[in-house]
Amino acid sequence: MENERTEIDSIGEFGLIERIKNNFANSLQEYTVKGIGDDAAAFQPNKEDEIIVSSSDMLLEGIHFDLTYVPLKHLGYKAVVVNISDIAAMNGKAKQIMVNIGLSNRFSVEAVDEIYKGIQLACKYYNVDLVGGDTTSSPSGLVLSVSILGSVAKDKITYRDTAKPGDVICVSGDLGAAYLGLQVLKREKEVFMVNKDMLPQLDEKSYLVERQLKPEARVDIIEELDKAAVVPTSMIDISDGLASELLHICKMSDVGANIFEDKLPMDRMALETATDDLNISPLVCMLNGGEDYELLFTIAQDDFPKIENNLKIIPIGYIQDKSLGVKLISRANQSIDIQAQGWKHF
Ligand code: ADP
Ligand code: MG
Repeated sequence: MENERTEIDSIGEFGLIERIKNNFANSLQEYTVKGIGDDAAAFQPNKEDEIIVSSSDMLLEGIHFDLTYVPLKHLGYKAVVVNISDIAAMNGKAKQIMVNIGLSNRFSVEAVDEIYKGIQLACKYYNVDLVGGDTTSSPSGLVLSVSILGSVAKDKITYRDTAKPGDVICVSGDLGAAYLGLQVLKREKEVFMVNKDMLPQLDEKSYLVERQLKPEARVDIIEELDKAAVVPTSMIDISDGLASELLHICKMSDVGANIFEDKLPMDRMALETATDDLNISPLVCMLNGGEDYELLFTIAQDDFPKIENNLKIIPIGYIQDKSLGVKLISRANQSIDIQAQGWKHF
């Protein structure tokens, strides 16, 4: 398999699309009327009281990913997951995706197969249909763009701009591990560049590397909130780090917030790697590290008892009046301004 290389030119664009179509043909779920193969995909309108939500994400080689340490299959998987996470952050359920891909002649048919294996794995796991896309050539790098459609009941859709003073701020899991995973992968790449015989020592960092290469969307949290009959008052997914996402919610909702350093969740391995190994502040990893794809949401105080015993949902602070600012209360009980210091690609 490693040695096999079929040039895309030998099967052509239509041959490639046919190949993709054959792998996804039987996966049509509810509401998808027509998938790949016509001029456009077709959907049955959803129920009267449902809202369609849609999002899109574009990944460029050299800017959003580096193929020296990102396997193509993982890239395909992640490209789908980050979109599902966006739909989850609207309190919605993902239904269909479209995949646009730009390929240079560096990429073989087998390479495209690997990307689509990852896409297919994500489609199966999250029960979404691949219903179309576009295929073009690209001068050098790989471009992978995924668009997604989902739906959510009218009375459950959750925006960023509706948090209220007194609401409890919650996160769905540990923070900073994906960023640390990236630092570990970058370090291994440097070692490898110097000595190509060195095999990567990633075993003990497996959780961190997995958080970076194979993130999951927290659809389980959306289901559990639904079962508990809780609609968050606001929600966002954590792609750029907790600080940046909390500031988005506060700015858009016109409120302030207090979060507590000693409540912020970090995995033990992440903590050890940050302090003993990479010499980075764990707090900075949690606040400004990117790509955890956990959900950050606010819950009305009256609803809080309904999810209080859910161990996956971690309360980290509360929303307050705008005039009180957006603050981190440190372990030493100091109140520190939270700064936007995101994960900027520019
Ligand atoms: P058109 O010329 O009308 O844009 P295409 O030949 O580009 O049609 O696409 C034919 C069908 O294949 C369409 O249903 C399109 O959505 C689908 N398709 C094209 N490229 C991809 C891709 N990379 N992944 C999934 N579906 C694709
Ligand atoms: Mg086209």
